[in-house]
Amino acid sequence: CGIVGYIGDRIATDILLEGLEKLEYRGYDSAGVAVLNNGQLNVKKCKGRLSVLKEKLNGNKIDGTIGIGHTRWATHGEPSDVNSHPHTDTTGNIAVVHNGIIENYLEIKEELQEKGYNFVSDTDTEVISHLVHSYYEGDLIDAVRKAVSRLEGAYALGVISKENPDKLVAVRKDSPLIVGLGEKENFIASDIPAILKHTRKVYILEDGEMAIVEKDKVSIMKTDGTPVEKEVYVVNWDV
Ligand code: GLU
Repeated sequence: CGIVGYIGDRIATDILLEGLEKLEYRGYDSAGVAVLNNGQLNVKKCKGRLSVLKEKLNGNKIDGTIGIGHTRWATHGEPSDVNSHPHTDTTGNIAVVHNGIIENYLEIKEELQEKGYNFVSDTDTEVISHLVHSYYEGDLIDAVRKAVSRLEGAYALGVISKENPDKLVAVRKDSPLIVGLGEKENFIASDIPAILKHTRKVYILEDGEMAIVEKDKVSIMKTDGTPVEKEVYVVNWDV
């Protein structure tokens, strides 16, 4: 399972697919991407290998220069098209990719269902997209912070929102996540090989750290909002 995210000037889908390919060694049963383009959030996902997703995208290529991609190793909900990531909220504003397991997802799901949220998948992950929506008051960072404060378990997350097309938000606890630092473009990924073709400069996120990734800058903070001074790790090896 793996996560890749991109923001910059290039076609996001190409970089996401290429990065996910580099994470194939981690194993997966489904794959998907979500890309923002001209105020639209486009999601393509399906059960199977990356080649199945690529075929699906071939006839229907999504433009757009910010996006997130995922390969899934199913833990909650069988491998299927609907259970594949990215998961969105009901309004189609927010998209989430997740590696890990949310242990208290049933409790959160019931709470959200009582508030009227409709679930379409059997995954633990879908609670995150609805939870972010339920806390969303115009500030994606704030909504993600509030959402993760409710989560128990393991997660590496990539989140985008069509109302905030200039940033992607990443956060981790007990699942790996790194940020790749480019020139007028930045990346997130589960592991360095996914982005090594594009940059050798990375931040390695620690548990409880959150990255706000924009085209020209990356800021790191703890999930309580405390800013973090991060050292750049320069990768001196090849894959
Ligand atoms: N628990 C999530 C799911 O089953 C994420 C699995 C993964 O890490 O790929 O959808």
